[in-house]
Amino acid sequence: MYILLMGPPGAGKGTQAANLVKEFGIPHISTGDMFRAAVKEGTELGKQAKACMDAGKLVPDEITIGIVRERLAKQDCAKGFILDGFPRTVEQADALQKILEELSITLTRVVDISVPNASLIERAVGRRICKSCGATYHIKFNPTKSEGVCDDCGGELYQRADDTEETMSNRLSVYDAQTKPLIDYYKKAGLYSLIDGSQEIGKVFSDVVESLKK
Ligand SMILES: [Zn+2]
Repeated sequence: MYILLMGPPGAGKGTQAANLVKEFGIPHISTGDMFRAAVKEGTELGKQAKACMDAGKLVPDEITIGIVRERLAKQDCAKGFILDGFPRTVEQADALQKILEELSITLTRVVDISVPNASLIERAVGRRICKSCGATYHIKFNPTKSEGVCDDCGGELYQRADDTEETMSNRLSVYDAQTKPLIDYYKKAGLYSLIDGSQEIGKVFSDVVESLKK
């Protein structure tokens, strides 16, 4: 089961990835984790990536692609993986295709968990987090019993600085512009499945599993 997971920030990709890990016993490989691991292990590519990040520069494609190649070649990926956050461009998708060919892997499906932007903004803007224990609430969908106070520990709730309408709209515009060509790319390859991520979590998951049977 070789799955490529797509979806805008806040669409619930993390939850679905965790469910897929449980269901199929394959690793969830997110770009962030992959970078952190390469840096921590001190691989040559990890060192180069760290030098870029320390200098505040974007990590060049050749380094990113090299790190993906190293990660996907590891033993735990032999039976499958859930790749999340890569590729972001058509160039990267071409590079991924080459890596998979080298490893004799065929992608099972590209699963795109989609939620309308207006809902994603509403989810983000209403999110409140407990300062003490990190519990997450939503002023409309999951409110605390007493406003601004954590139900679990009585801690004070706060709103993350980037959970604003402006920041979310900007992030989503960037995401949409970046992803559109990728969607076309994987549609053409006959691998693309659009999943309605605004449904209840269990239904989203059963739709994901169903799409993998195609
Ligand atoms: Zn709390």
